[in-house]
Amino acid sequence: MGILKNKKQILIILCIFAILVFVVIMYMTYMLKKIENNANNTIKTIVENDANNLKTKITEQKDILNSVANQIVTDNVIDEEKIFDIYDKSYIKSKFIRMAIMYENGKTITNDGFEVNYLDEKENFFSNNQINVFENRISKIDGDEINIYSKKINVNDNNIAILLIVTIESYKDIFSNKIFEGKGFSYIINNNSNIITSSNTDKKTSNMLEDIYKISTNKYKKEFETYKDNLNNNIKNNKSGEEIIETIYGKYYMVYENIGENNWLLATFIPSREIAKESNQALLTTFILSILVILVIISICIYIIISNYKKQLKLYEYAYIDPITKKGNIYYFRKKGQELLENFKTSNLYIAILDINKFKMINKLYGYKIGDEILYKIGEILEENLEKSSIISRYSNDYFSVLFNCNNDLHKQLEEIIEKIENMQIKNVDYKLSVNMGIYKVNKDKSITDIMDKAIIAHNESKGNVYNKYYIYDEKIEKELEIENEIEQSMNEALKEKEFAIYYQPKINIQKNILYGAEALVRWKHNGKNILPNEFIPIFEKNKFILKLDLYIFEQVCQDMKKWKEEYNKEFIISINVSRQHFTEPNFLEKYVEITKKYGINPKNIDLEITESATIDSGINIIEMMKEIKKLGFLISIDDFGTGYSSLSMLQSMPIDILKIDKSFIDLIGKNKKNVVDYILNIAKELELKIIAEGVETKEQRDYLLERKCDIIQGYYYSKPLCKEEFEEYFRFTSF
Ligand code: C2E
Ligand code: CA
Ligand code: CA
Repeated sequence: MGILKNKKQILIILCIFAILVFVVIMYMTYMLKKIENNANNTIKTIVENDANNLKTKITEQKDILNSVANQIVTDNVIDEEKIFDIYDKSYIKSKFIRMAIMYENGKTITNDGFEVNYLDEKENFFSNNQINVFENRISKIDGDEINIYSKKINVNDNNIAILLIVTIESYKDIFSNKIFEGKGFSYIINNNSNIITSSNTDKKTSNMLEDIYKISTNKYKKEFETYKDNLNNNIKNNKSGEEIIETIYGKYYMVYENIGENNWLLATFIPSREIAKESNQALLTTFILSILVILVIISICIYIIISNYKKQLKLYEYAYIDPITKKGNIYYFRKKGQELLENFKTSNLYIAILDINKFKMINKLYGYKIGDEILYKIGEILEENLEKSSIISRYSNDYFSVLFNCNNDLHKQLEEIIEKIENMQIKNVDYKLSVNMGIYKVNKDKSITDIMDKAIIAHNESKGNVYNKYYIYDEKIEKELEIENEIEQSMNEALKEKEFAIYYQPKINIQKNILYGAEALVRWKHNGKNILPNEFIPIFEKNKFILKLDLYIFEQVCQDMKKWKEEYNKEFIISINVSRQHFTEPNFLEKYVEITKKYGINPKNIDLEITESATIDSGINIIEMMKEIKKLGFLISIDDFGTGYSSLSMLQSMPIDILKIDKSFIDLIGKNKKNVVDYILNIAKELELKIIAEGVETKEQRDYLLERKCDIIQGYYYSKPLCKEEFEEYFRFTSF
């Protein structure tokens, strides 16, 4: 189980992340815009401010010119001394400004006492009555760059031109020298783009557009060609505006503002990176803050996921881990097993189910703590001895189920595991255990339940088998199980429908040559077939249906005996097989007695056959029970005598009447092993019991038994089991 196995959680984290990133991007874009706007506004404000200052300066200069001119006209003075007096009064002297007057004869005198020759400009100065500005002249006095404002006035019918000579230098103080810490620069230009002056000391040309063109990047030069006209037009028409200019020094943000005087414009250039610097700083702060926020949110998410994961792990442990072995439990096995089956590719996958015989006893003997340690150790042994990919679980009590791959010798591997479990050691103490294991080789099966069922079937086969510790599932047991299933399905119906019939096999007293009696043997007539008892009796013994069947047979026999007595006045001893399953049923004899009473049958004519092996079953007090049977008047036979290994002393203490020597001994007659037969016959004689020889088929066998003083014979030599009607014929008409 991975920490982020839950796709939903990953999706949620991704969504949160995406939303955060989106929000951050949006916020940063917004910030960027805002910062940019702020910067633009700042720049515009600076430029507007500068333009205003410039405008004020120009108006001031023009006002001086106007007021001096007006005063001259009012005072009606023409003499230069007096004119300069007016000028001096009106204007605080400045090193940037001087005043001059030009008479009509061309004589030009400055207020500081220079006489200069401005004849070449005379036309300009006297052209009209307006204030005119003449830009970019060189001072004839000191070589400074100057602008000249002129105004023509008429005093006493004389035309005089009043000139105000202003050095370019005088405009420079309007530039904010702190434009982006000196990184920006400005031009004052006229509407022909000619540079009046610039804050930039290294002025390259006299035309701003040429200047821009010079420093434009190659890439931008081409664009600039077309773009220039547009800019040119704006400038020509005194329009304000803003542009981004790409130059070899980087991008510049350019703002140009109409001054409103002299058709001048102020153009300011700020390097974009200076604007960006400010926004970058803000962006960086925002970015770092955003990253911090994202980190905190993501950390919270991860913390929640991890604590959820831990919770899930705990739940997983509760749901899938067996607390004793620390391996999986049944749910784990089913889940993992099912997954494996759905994806499994190898051809050597096996499922094994194993348990410890009489594990309850181990718990009782050593205590639950040791019991738990043994279970834990089994888990460990399985893990150590199987491939890593194996799925190991304890699915209940002492039952383990394992899915494993085995490419080598399966038998060797199983034997090793069994050996290790059966001889385990815990804290230096040896424990002897007995294991049974059922194995099924997975073959295209897709359901864990199916393969578990098959392993359980194989396990059941191995159960209680001391010699074969493990059993590998094969088709045969499945067929048998199918039949068993079918039999179980139809047995109750069969009893109701009277499908069970009784056959009687005669028993002949060969000494007296008379009919001694018969054994009642059940037959099942099912769907037109005669099923022999060996096929269904073992199943009925397992599922206890034999209790019902035996009682039914007993009643049928009693009914027949009643009929024979009444109709033919015949009474003989009929033996009836009693399954060992009755012995553990309380009061089973009561029902038998009841039936004999119902049909008026004397119990001394009924011989109950009990197999020798049933008498040595440790779970029952067989002698007490036999005494009970004898008390009620029934005869008792020991069936299949010789096959059960009962002791002589035990037989002596049993109140029995007859020994039925098993067919396997009779078969030895004629095979030169008569001494074994003799030995069995001698035991019977020693016990002073009546002997019946079963399964006599040949004359040789009969003759030998006759010679050995064996009284009664049952077998095909005389007759096969007969149905009721045949048996009636037999006892009425046969002579021996
Ligand atoms: P069993 O009690 O030992 O019965 C004797 C079996 O030997 C009978 O088989 C009988 O048909 C067979 N047999 C007799 N003489 C010969 C012979 O000369 N040669 C050969 N080859 N077989 C001979 P059957 O009827 O098939 O019964 C088999 C077993 O089923 C019986 O063995 C008995 O243990 C059990 N059984 C039969 N009927 C009942 C019944 O009603 N109740 C119970 N509990 N068991 C029954
Ligand atoms: Ca029998
Ligand atoms: Ca028998």
